[in-house]
Amino acid sequence: MQTVPLVLGAVVGALLAAAPARAGELRDFEHHVRTTDLYLRELIRDAVDTSPTFRALVARLQRSDVIVYVSREGTLPSVDGQLTFRVASGGVRYLAIRLAWNRTPRRHVASLAHELQHAVEIADAPWVVDEATLEREYARMGDHGPEYGTVKTFETKAAIQAGRQAWRDYGSEAE
Ligand SMILES: [Zn+2]
Repeated sequence: MQTVPLVLGAVVGALLAAAPARAGELRDFEHHVRTTDLYLRELIRDAVDTSPTFRALVARLQRSDVIVYVSREGTLPSVDGQLTFRVASGGVRYLAIRLAWNRTPRRHVASLAHELQHAVEIADAPWVVDEATLEREYARMGDHGPEYGTVKTFETKAAIQAGRQAWRDYGSEAE
């Protein structure tokens, strides 16, 4: 699989409503990995069932102050996925993962696992609260990736590994 850079993209200013965690059965909006895309919702359920790696990433985020919104986009440059820091608000840190639209389900699962590993890295770094602190953290612990104009990218071995493992776990599906 190609390496998928972590992009320090533009801040999206909109504040997203925070749902307080409750004991017992989780409703959809209480999950820390959220999407309004029905295809992605189904895919995430499948991946949680199929891939122990994917399941562990979601479980880790579920116990964190990080909430991730996942969407598909047709306009991503030559990458499978991107993660950006959106905003820290009310004790919750919001991230956005965008996946390239025209990929196979298996490749979507692999790229999402890759990006969710980055989300876990941010969950493990409570001092990351905006793009500047995100960049500082990845300059410290990540590897520099290619730059797209003014956009710097970073990569981690753990994210590459998570993507590869989820790809193998989901291996019974057609590529
Ligand atoms: Zn990455």
